[in-house]
Amino acid sequence: MANNDDQFKKVVSHAKEYGYIFASSEIYDGLSAVYDYAQNGAELKKNIREYWWRSMVYMHQNIVGIDAAILMHPTTWKASGHVDAFNDPLIDNKDSKKRYRADVLVEDYAEKLEQKAQKEIAKAQKRFGEAFDEAQFVTTNPRVLRYRGEAKAAVERLARSLEKEDLADVKALIEELDIADPETGSKNWTEVRQFNLMFGTKLGASAESATDLYLRPETAQGIFVNFLNVQKTGRMKIPFGIAQTGKAFRNEIVARQFIFRMREFEQMEMQFFVRPGEELKWYEYWKETRLKWHLSLGMGKENYRFHDHEKLAHYANAAADIEFNFPFGFKELEGIHSRTDFDLKAHEQYSGKKLQFYDPELQENYVPYVVETSIGLDRMFLAVLSNSLEEETLDDGNTRTVLKLPAILAPVKAAVLPLVKKDGLPEIAQEIIDELQWEHNVVYDEKDAVGRRYRRQDAAGTPFCITVDHQTLDDQTVTLRHRDSMEQERLPISELGSKISEAVSYKTWLA
Ligand code: ATP
Repeated sequence: MANNDDQFKKVVSHAKEYGYIFASSEIYDGLSAVYDYAQNGAELKKNIREYWWRSMVYMHQNIVGIDAAILMHPTTWKASGHVDAFNDPLIDNKDSKKRYRADVLVEDYAEKLEQKAQKEIAKAQKRFGEAFDEAQFVTTNPRVLRYRGEAKAAVERLARSLEKEDLADVKALIEELDIADPETGSKNWTEVRQFNLMFGTKLGASAESATDLYLRPETAQGIFVNFLNVQKTGRMKIPFGIAQTGKAFRNEIVARQFIFRMREFEQMEMQFFVRPGEELKWYEYWKETRLKWHLSLGMGKENYRFHDHEKLAHYANAAADIEFNFPFGFKELEGIHSRTDFDLKAHEQYSGKKLQFYDPELQENYVPYVVETSIGLDRMFLAVLSNSLEEETLDDGNTRTVLKLPAILAPVKAAVLPLVKKDGLPEIAQEIIDELQWEHNVVYDEKDAVGRRYRRQDAAGTPFCITVDHQTLDDQTVTLRHRDSMEQERLPISELGSKISEAVSYKTWLA
């Protein structure tokens, strides 16, 4: 995967051309940072959601799933801290009039230093070859030490200033680091201000009686307020988890990276309730378990890394991101947070209702501690899409565009192609579809030469093509073509169903 703007542009245009993602209300010139999922995109998104749900809910006997409402009682957001503290520090450039997140400017600065350090390491590796001792090099090379030291100092100072709400120091830091507007190079900055990210709305008909509500900025709170309902009705014993997927809304300050940062997006979250004191053990467990889930899709171990948080949110005692190598670099894909008993305690306080668990082994009541795993479905979609898109040069010198989606996630599993539009071949193709569609999303395609149809399906991400030809009339066999290897095999029509089912079975992938 090329690590550049070009690859990213290709992903964005491919997503539109092949019916994955459209700008929202495009005929009115779109709505900033809001997107619609098209015919293939809706399938891919559903398949990612299902892959997550099954691994969480079906594969863990102590995790159940719910579907809470987007609108919640407004006190929820007082208790959770979102009304008072769900802010991003923003800064404007006076010349370009562009708005940025002040924290992101500093983090990007640190990331650039880290990239310089990586370059030094790569250079030394080349120079020393086999004899290269990376561990020794990074602890002794003055340049690497300086780059990493400066990056660490910047991020740590940012964390301290934000912790103390010292926004003047965040600005001072940006000036001391000589950070320029990434688009124009100007260093003419405004003060740093806090900006609340929640979307407000109203419930009720008349202006006087209307209640102020918020569109939920995260799905987690729907889980916390239902903690006791689920625990009681499901007779759940600690440790146990509640999973949920659904829409969340944030009035993001800067939203320029396609579906990476949207104003309306979908989260897949799981809150795991544990005994106080055991949370860090479970935190480690979920870090490892979630990384395994990602790796099961085969998108390259080297494309993931953990980033342990320097600055912990006020409710957390440990937090890490799983970062993915997007076309614009390593960025957060999923968060794993040890949230302590902050949320349940706050809801107890604001609601006046006890949210406790009676532990029969310990014979005591307590407010459980929580470990959360939270992943953006749209970000996962972007990770899958950008990782899968390849421009391949073939043995004969030709190139093909191929979307190597993990087969389990592919929107369409197979395309059925009659070699010609006559001699009864379309009818056989239709019979094959009639049978396969009980289990799989399959399509029919008879237009153009078969080679072009293969290319079209490659670019759309379809893992299998099934070609019906004249031999099929004689012996009931077809050609099965594999997208990634382009290999073709001859097999009886009766074996197609089981062959495809095996290739896209949850057991094959998740195990
Ligand atoms: P970031 O630092 O990128 O703003 P965050 O730390 O605020 O993200 P969380 O509140 O931890 O994100 O949300 C959990 C997950 O939800 C993130 O890991 C990300 O995948 C997803 N997510 C958060 N904000 C957005 C957004 N605006 N658009 C798409 N996905 C998002």
